Amino acid sequence: RAKALGRARYHVFDPIMYQEAIQLLELENDLRRAVARQEFIVYYQPIVSLYTGKIAGFEALVRWKHPLRGLIPPSDFIPVAEETGLISDINTWVLQSACQQLHLWENHPEITQPITMSVNLSARMFSQPNLIAQIDEILYETKVNPENLELEITESVIMENIHAVKTILQQLQERRIKLVMDDFGTGYSSLSYLHSFPLSALKIDKSFVKRMQENQEDMGLVPAMIGIADSMGMRTIAEGVETREQLDQLRSLNCEFAQGFLFSQPIEQQSVIHLLTKAPQW
Ligand code: C2E
Ligand code: MG
Ligand code: MG
Ligand code: MG
Repeated sequence: RAKALGRARYHVFDPIMYQEAIQLLELENDLRRAVARQEFIVYYQPIVSLYTGKIAGFEALVRWKHPLRGLIPPSDFIPVAEETGLISDINTWVLQSACQQLHLWENHPEITQPITMSVNLSARMFSQPNLIAQIDEILYETKVNPENLELEITESVIMENIHAVKTILQQLQERRIKLVMDDFGTGYSSLSYLHSFPLSALKIDKSFVKRMQENQEDMGLVPAMIGIADSMGMRTIAEGVETREQLDQLRSLNCEFAQGFLFSQPIEQQSVIHLLTKAPQW
């Protein structure tokens, strides 16, 4: 038996690995074509103010509208897009689309409250030498108020290249764009560094919100994270809020904003007006 296994090692051709390599190559080619044809769509998920109970803004979340496979979630193509560098084109397109949309909402007669737009920025974007010029162009073309634009970055983006990213974030801050730390608590950033970055908010990762509910007695780390944000003069957004209990707990902790399926799934642009004008109070 051992001999048989030993011999099997000499088979260079592994059908499973081969299958996976082919699939990855197909996905890559498919994605290249998708970028050329702009086969993407932006969904919007509301962010609710827990102080007013109203929608304060939206997060733009990309999906791939595949002609054969239907709607593909970011988790199934962002990793390959990151690896191949295609993420930059996709991300720029998302930023452009979300800003265009924001400008339409800013000028919509039925929308009277101020609305913010949050867009995720991939680490790859920060290695583009023209990132700031691109953002300037998008702001100029779409005419959005930069104060209503929020860019979400993860801890790893900051920690990978502290000095370069800091300079870029300062340039964004000069434009009055807001900067949000996404998935806070899942990375390994040092608090002393965080403090020196021009961040306006920390977005608490959904895993902590989930644990808060499962662990009723000690509320887990969420109060500590809100405390950290407070002490650094930053606001807090809780991600992945699914239950009324989580909402009540977050409110009692003075968390300012929340986002999650309890309020709404990410939705298409057409459904947003309805949500804004008929939104229940939370
Ligand atoms: P993220 O930025 O942390 O976005 C939040 C994710 O949590 C979204 O997944 C959202 O649909 C999901 N979510 C919202 N509420 C709930 C909830 O109550 N429960 C649960 N279980 N999940 C909830 P989505 O849309 O699949 O996006 C996944 C990730 O893909 C995003 O995580 C972000 O890192 C990335 N992503 C999405 N769009 C873009 C983009 O345009 N550019 C870049 N660079 N990354 C993007
Ligand atoms: Mg995000
Ligand atoms: Mg997040
Ligand atoms: Mg997350």
